[in-house]
Amino acid sequence: MCWLRKFLAVSFGPVPSLNHEPRSPFNALVYETAVWLEQLRSLNLYVIRILFILLPFAIPPMATPTVPTAIETLPLRSAEDIFAGCSSAIAIAPHPDDESLGCGGAIALLRQCSIPVRILVVSDGTGSHPQSQRYPAAELRKLRESETRLAASRLGVAADAIAFWRWPDTAVPHPGTANFLAAVDCGRRYFRRYRPSLLFVPWRYDQHRDHRASWQIVQSCLEFCPQPPRQLIYSIWGSRSGGLAALPAGEIGWRLDIRSVVATKRAAVMAHQSQTTALIEDDPNGFRLTPAMLTNLIQPWEIYLENTN
Ligand SMILES: [Zn+2]
Repeated sequence: MCWLRKFLAVSFGPVPSLNHEPRSPFNALVYETAVWLEQLRSLNLYVIRILFILLPFAIPPMATPTVPTAIETLPLRSAEDIFAGCSSAIAIAPHPDDESLGCGGAIALLRQCSIPVRILVVSDGTGSHPQSQRYPAAELRKLRESETRLAASRLGVAADAIAFWRWPDTAVPHPGTANFLAAVDCGRRYFRRYRPSLLFVPWRYDQHRDHRASWQIVQSCLEFCPQPPRQLIYSIWGSRSGGLAALPAGEIGWRLDIRSVVATKRAAVMAHQSQTTALIEDDPNGFRLTPAMLTNLIQPWEIYLENTN
């Protein structure tokens, strides 16, 4: 116990001597133990004080709330930068017209570089004018598919590179619904066949349910893919007036410079006359892209979010 006595003596001073000698070695031991316990209590207080001093360094700083980033301040990147190493791409369009609105500029730029691009249209698009007598569902589907072929040709994509899955508009299978696994199975076969190195996919938080469902289908398709393609995410209905008003907190995004092909993109969008004009006039509640929506969605840049999953 000699070393302990020395340590305690150095740390807290010598054990105070009694004003009388202990009557026996046992009494001396009891006395010294009591003193040590008191000194240990003091030591504990020291430790607690030190811990209090160190506490602010031990607690991780509170996350500062992230402010949505203004779209105009996102970095502007070139096609050469983004598409370097891309060997083929597939654009997933939940509805006929999303391929042009969401990533028409990127498709046109890829095709200018002779990079193969395919377009996969997930739904039949028959939900835009459900009351039309002139265009009942079967006719509306044909019309919208022909509009998609025209839009694709303006972007440089041949008709035989377009696939129409024809899931019912506003009822694209979500996880847990009856047809979800069938859609995923179909998608896996499609991706295995074409093996794209790049995918354009709708945003998982888009306000339209078909966009969210399409994102889910694609993610399930790629779940066990040994070399999944890069995914660039576009938003159509991030805001009610189209596009994204600001980069949502937690997302990583940038702008693709499409100035050189913005006229081509506009021409492709306008090929969807059923959505951009009064072509279908017998359904007053039918959907139509307003000039404000078109302005928001056709800019000299396209916004892409990186898949951070
Ligand atoms: Zn859509």
